[in-house]
Amino acid sequence: MTAPLPSEKAFIPFVSVENMMRLVHHVGIETMLVELTDAIEADFRRWDLFDKTPRVASHSHDGVIELMPTSDGAVYSFKYVNGHPKNMAQGLQTVTAFGLLAEVSTGYPVLLTEMTLLTALRTAATSAMAARHLAPANSRCLTLIGNGAQAEFQALAMKAVLGIQEVRLYDIDPKATEKTVRNLGKTGLRLVPCTSAQAAIEGADIITTCTADKQFATILTDNMVGAGVHINAIGGDCPGKTELHRDILLRADTFVEYPPQTRVEGEIQQMNPDYPITELWQVVAGRAQGRSSERQITLFDSVGFAIEDFSALRYVREKLKGTDYFQKLDIIADPDDPRDLFGMLLRAG
Ligand code: NAD
Repeated sequence: MTAPLPSEKAFIPFVSVENMMRLVHHVGIETMLVELTDAIEADFRRWDLFDKTPRVASHSHDGVIELMPTSDGAVYSFKYVNGHPKNMAQGLQTVTAFGLLAEVSTGYPVLLTEMTLLTALRTAATSAMAARHLAPANSRCLTLIGNGAQAEFQALAMKAVLGIQEVRLYDIDPKATEKTVRNLGKTGLRLVPCTSAQAAIEGADIITTCTADKQFATILTDNMVGAGVHINAIGGDCPGKTELHRDILLRADTFVEYPPQTRVEGEIQQMNPDYPITELWQVVAGRAQGRSSERQITLFDSVGFAIEDFSALRYVREKLKGTDYFQKLDIIADPDDPRDLFGMLLRAG
C-alpha cells in the first residue's frame, strides 16, 4: 500500500543551489544585485519594526557556526551560516548557508533555500547600499583585497549600483586574483591585478577588504589610507578576526549594522566601548548624516546582519512566483485532522 501524500498546503518551496543559479541567470546577475540593494535598503528604512538580536554564535578553534533570526511581525526568517577560513585548503567553502522564511501568523515555513550564493549576493548588495550613502560622489575605482568567493559579487554590485569602472585586485594567493580576473573578464570592468595591497589601493575611491583569516590581521595600515576614501570592511566578522589597523578607525567615521553584534564581531572590537559609531539604518532613513565632506574617511564595518538575509529571502520568494525554480518539500507534518497526527502515522504504516 502506498502512503497517502500529505495535503498540498503542507508542501513548502525549496530552492536548491541549482535552482538558485537558474533564478539568478533568469533575473540577470547585475539586475538582481540592484534589486537586492533596493530591497535591503527598504527594510533598513523600517528598521524599528524588526525584532533584533545579535546572532547566536558557536565558536570553535576552526571557525564559527551561527544562527541569524529576525522578524518584522508578519514574516520570520533565520539563516544558518558558518565561517571556516581554513576550509579553503581542504577544497571546501569558507562560508556556506541556508535559510528559512515563515509566516508569523501560523508559524508555518513558506520557503527553504540555499543561501551560500544568496549570502554572497546580499553581502555585495549591502556593501553597495552602504557605499551609495558613504562613498565619494562619482566613485569609479574600487580596490578589492581578498579575491575569494565573495570578490566577484562585491565588484559587480559596486559596478551595477554605483557605476564603478575599474577594479584593482590583490590577494596573497595570485591564483585567487587570476580566477577573479577570469570571471570578471566579460563584465566591461577595467581589471588591474596588483602584487601588493599597497599597489592595489592607488587611486581607489572605495577599498573593500574581504579576506578570511581567523586572527587580528592587518590588511590595511593607517599610512595606506588616504583622505576621502570609503572603506568597506567585510572580512572582520568574528571575535578575534579583524582586518584593519586600529589607527585607521581613529581617523575614520564608522558606520555599523547592529551595534550589539558589531561591538563583539566587527573592526570596532579593537576600540573602547565609547568609540563613536553611527548606525547605517539611520543614514538610510535620513536620520543621521552619511558622508559629510570630501576628505572624510568613511568605514562600513560590515559583519552581516539578519535583516539583510530577511530581505534577500523575501526577495527570492517574490521572484519564484510564476517560475519552476523550486521543488516542493514535504517537511511539515500536516494531517487533515490537526489533532490526528498519530492517525496520519498509522495510516502510512
Ligand atoms: P574565501 O576564503 O573564499 O576568500 C578569502 C580570500 O582572502 C582568499 O583568496 C585568501 O587567499 C585571501 N586572503 C587571506 N589573507 C589575506 C591577506 N592577508 N591579504 C590578501 N588576501 C588574503 O572567503 P570569502 O567567502 O570570499 O569571504 C571573505 C571574508 O568575508 C570572510 O572572512 C568571511 O567570513 C567574510 N564574510 C563577511 C560577510 C559579511 O556580511 N560581512 C558575508 C560573507 C562573508
